Amino acid sequence: MAHATTIIDLARLSLSHGEGRRLELPVRLEPLELAGQSYAISTESVPVRLDVSRPSGGYAFRMRFPLRIEGPCMRCLEGAALETEVDAREVAQDNTDDEELRSPYVEDDQLDLGRWAHDAAVLTIPTRFLCRPDCAGLCSVCGESLNDADPGEHEHDVGPDPRWAKLRELELE
Ligand SMILES: [Zn+2]
Ligand SMILES: [Zn+2]
Repeated sequence: MAHATTIIDLARLSLSHGEGRRLELPVRLEPLELAGQSYAISTESVPVRLDVSRPSGGYAFRMRFPLRIEGPCMRCLEGAALETEVDAREVAQDNTDDEELRSPYVEDDQLDLGRWAHDAAVLTIPTRFLCRPDCAGLCSVCGESLNDADPGEHEHDVGPDPRWAKLRELELE
């Protein structure tokens, strides 16, 4: 499996305290997965805009990129797509035991931008990934998509439950 890593060497930016820098670079994302379902992105890499600033004793980051996610609709299984904009922030303080101020993506002045971008992209996938907000889903009887069907015309003559017929037979005996 290919690992799409994009590591930013923060020391090489040689920012003094109070300074900031904006970087723009393409980042390849690992395949996106949520709840066992995988999603595709429509481009090989995403154009990431990364703002790095250096407040006293650490780093602060803001990462932004547009994203188009493709996958099956959770109701009708047709192809669905979502256009979204990722906007995420991280802080990384030096020499702190406070978990809130430590970033899982920063170690030894190295920012793992690839992993952060991947995780942030997964967070934008809605728990209800639908082809359209009012997707009608599949017919529970025949499995046909109800989006194209006229609801008045798509009906099944289900008939009486066969178990009742069986009971009635028993009663007659
Ligand atoms: Zn659908
Ligand atoms: Zn049906």
